Amino acid sequence: MKILNTMSEDYHIHSINYSDGLNTIDEIVQYAHKIWLKKIIITDHSQVALDAEKIELKNYRISLKRRVNVHNDLDVKFGVEWDLIDDEWNCCFEIGRNHSIEEYFCILSCHDNAYKWDLKNITQAYINAIEKYHDKIKFIWHICNKKTSQYLDIPKIAEVLNKYNIPIEINCSYLKLDRTDTSKLDQLLKLLKSGVYVNTDAHCLTDLHLKELGFQYLKDRGYL
Ligand SMILES: [Zn+2]
Ligand SMILES: [Zn+2]
Repeated sequence: MKILNTMSEDYHIHSINYSDGLNTIDEIVQYAHKIWLKKIIITDHSQVALDAEKIELKNYRISLKRRVNVHNDLDVKFGVEWDLIDDEWNCCFEIGRNHSIEEYFCILSCHDNAYKWDLKNITQAYINAIEKYHDKIKFIWHICNKKTSQYLDIPKIAEVLNKYNIPIEINCSYLKLDRTDTSKLDQLLKLLKSGVYVNTDAHCLTDLHLKELGFQYLKDRGYL
């Protein structure tokens, strides 16, 4: 199992510009550079998650061709945290009117307030969404979260992830908040051939420091 990013790369961060983060992209860019980060991807929530939480969109998404970092040499890219939404295995991958999924780094996630099917069928929902969108998904969000983990069939999930070589995420915020089903996560890590990303899922600047938790988790289990 490979670890696909380093301490200096965080590929899951939220901003106030496009979803529920507390800080602007400019603040994130400056602070991330001030600590140890060299590359970040701002992956705000999809429109269906914003609607479920009644969060207004503050800005239109700008073209990726426009450079946003005027502060430093931090590499800044953009992504979208997709949501699984229904039993047709549709995903919401847009924020506002912008749904140019080819342009963005796409994470597949599932929030129970945006997901409209029976949570008991979550394994099949993930499998079908992966079958449908595997060429666009960069990694699966924090799949072993406690809200859905009891319904998660780990061997089946591992099989489809390995089939399409899709990594999972070690989500440092969810480790910190004790929202991780660690027995399921450990089971999945043992079966996974595709690899993991260690990301903070930062919603404020202090969250960017959580990165060490994920690496420590992997170290404690002998993966580092
Ligand atoms: Zn959020
Ligand atoms: Zn997130």
